[in-house]
Parts: sequence; C-alpha cells; structure tokens
Amino acid sequence: MSKSLCDMTLNEIENMVAELNEPKFRAKQIYEWLRKGIDIDDMTNIPKTLREKLAHLDNNKAKIYEKRISQKDGTCKYLFELDDGNMVEGVLMHYKYGNTLCLSTQVGCNMGCAFCASTLNGCIRNLTASEMVSEVMAAENDCPREKNKKRSITNLVLMGSGEPLDNYDNVVEFLKRITAPDGINISPRNISISTCGLVPKVRKFISDAPHVTLSVSLHAPNNEIRDKIMPINKVYKIEQLLEVANEYAEVTGRRVIFEYALIKNLNSSKEHSIELSKRLRGINCHVNLIPLNSVKERNLEGVTRKDAELFAAWLAENKISATVRREMGADIDGACGQLRRKVLEERAKANDLR
Ligand code: SAH
Repeated sequence: MSKSLCDMTLNEIENMVAELNEPKFRAKQIYEWLRKGIDIDDMTNIPKTLREKLAHLDNNKAKIYEKRISQKDGTCKYLFELDDGNMVEGVLMHYKYGNTLCLSTQVGCNMGCAFCASTLNGCIRNLTASEMVSEVMAAENDCPREKNKKRSITNLVLMGSGEPLDNYDNVVEFLKRITAPDGINISPRNISISTCGLVPKVRKFISDAPHVTLSVSLHAPNNEIRDKIMPINKVYKIEQLLEVANEYAEVTGRRVIFEYALIKNLNSSKEHSIELSKRLRGINCHVNLIPLNSVKERNLEGVTRKDAELFAAWLAENKISATVRREMGADIDGACGQLRRKVLEERAKANDLR
C-alpha cells in the first residue's frame, strides 16, 4: 500500500507532486494543511483535479464508528474505527476551562493490569502518529465550536487504551505534531500523558517532552499490593518509579500526578493512606483518587464515593494533596476499554447468528 499523505515529509510530497507534473509550490500548500489536520476535501486552495488525484492517499485515519453521549454530564464516548478495521476509544469531557479529549495510543495493551478492560486481549498494534492526530481531528470536527474560539478541543489526556510509553516514538512524534505552533497548536501544558511506570522511558520522556504533564498510575502504597495488580511492578519497583517521578517534578518544576484507583479490601484502608503519604512525602505531587470502575471480566470491586472522600481526607491530614476525580460518563461505559469490548462482543454475536 502507498504511504498515507499524512505520514509524508515535505520532501516526499514534493516528489509526488513533481511526478504528477504539478507546480512545486503545491507541495508546501498541501503540507501546511496536513500539519493542521485538514482533510484533502477541505484544502481550499488546491484545485479539485489535484485533490481527486490525491484522494486515495488521504487514508489511515480514525473515523467515528459509534458515539454515545452521557445523559448525566454530556460526556461523549467515541469508538473510532481505523483503516484496518481495528477499533479504539476516545472520551470527550466538558469542563469549565475547555474540552478534554482522552485518546488511545495502542489497539489494546500489553501491560496486563488486573483491573483494566483494555488489556484483556493484549496489544494488537501501535497507533501511528497520524492515527492519533486523526482521533483529535475527528472529535474536533464533531464537537460544536463556541463562537470566537479557534478550536473546540483545548486539552488532551493520553489515557485511553494502550501504554503511551510502550509506543514511545510514535507518541513523541504525535506530541510534536499536535503542539507545533504552525500546526494544530495545542499547548503542551494542556496535555497529560499517563503511564503505568516504564521507568527508563519515563526518564527519556522528561527530556523529550518536558512541558507535558506526567501522570503515573500508582494504585498501591507498596510493592506487595502493586505486584498483585500491576505486572509492570515486577520489572520496575515502586521505589524506582517514585524516584523517576520525583526527577520529573524537580527537572520540570511541575507537580506530578499520581492516579490511585480505590479497590475494596485491597488498597483503600486508613493504613494504606498513611503508608502512601509516607511514600509520597517530599515529592511535588497531587493524588487523583477514583473509585475503581468495576469491569465485568474482573472480580475487583470499587469503593463508594464516600469512602473515596474519606481516603482523600486521610491523605490531607498527612499533608498530601488529593482530590476524588469526578466520574464522567459512568452511564456510557466510560472506563477504559469497556465500550470497545461491548461492541466487539456484539459484533461476534451477530456473526454467530449469521
Ligand atoms: N497505560 C496508561 C494509560 C491508560 S489507562 C496507564 O497505565 O496509565 C488510564 C488510567 O485508567 C490509568 O490510570 C489506569 O490505571 C486507569 N484504569 C484502568 N482501568 C480502570 C478501572 N477499571 N477503574 C479505574 N481506573 C482504571
């Protein structure tokens, strides 16, 4: 298959334009549109004849396959279909300060966390940088823009399916493109990346993308508990993870976010909060608490919202800043990987009935 237009360098587009006997300046025009994430049909200064010649190369993009809107808070869950038929999820959340898209970086995930639906069938493949850009553009084009605003999506979190640092090069290339001032121009300060803790990659990431906010999925106050729910902890221990998280905070001067899903009878007691506080003391950080979203295939149960608030108060008593994350889109399978699994199961059933 020929290379997609959106994956080509300026030089490659110039060569292609020359082969089509078109003037060289067209290449730059096309390239500039592509950097802005614009589809070929909308490249208004390119003649229709040329656009038609290039249409077959305007591929490899995520398209909205299904969309569910929460009746509770307007959160919008997308199922994106990729060119090869694979599906990934995205969630668009509306906040006072703007709209945040949570996007996927891999089809599935290899990290094997015990509570996560995305990892149940392993990682099928990495997403390319262009596919990630197209998730953002598909949601951007679907989301009504407020008057006088250049863009509807202002913030990104790389927290959909996949481990972003396990797809390192494509994720760094994606960040470069999405933040380019002459391109889509989303501020790196409005972007968060979440990792389960690939320690050497986190270290490299600090120098490759120092302005992006780092979230670390911690979910446990010690190695014993973390070993039970996150296989990555067998490779990189909690001490190494906290050390690199601290490095991020010191090098960038920005606080690191720790994600902590509260699980009944596992990591949510007062003793756990004290142990966690001791571990985090001295790190410029904030803890995001979330009651675990129960996943049908896993027998782990979340705590109540009230218990989560209590855990936050215990952390506060120990001078650790923490908040309970607002649950968004709970009525539309908001948790990671749930909608994709449901649709894939529905598809499989429909095939069986055929
Ligand atoms: N692989 C990355 C990013 C994807 S998961 C990471 O591990 O950080 C995004 C976040 O959702 C992570 O913090 C993950 O631990 C959390 N998560 C996954 N399944 C969950 C569930 N059932 N309930 C609550 N949080 C969950």
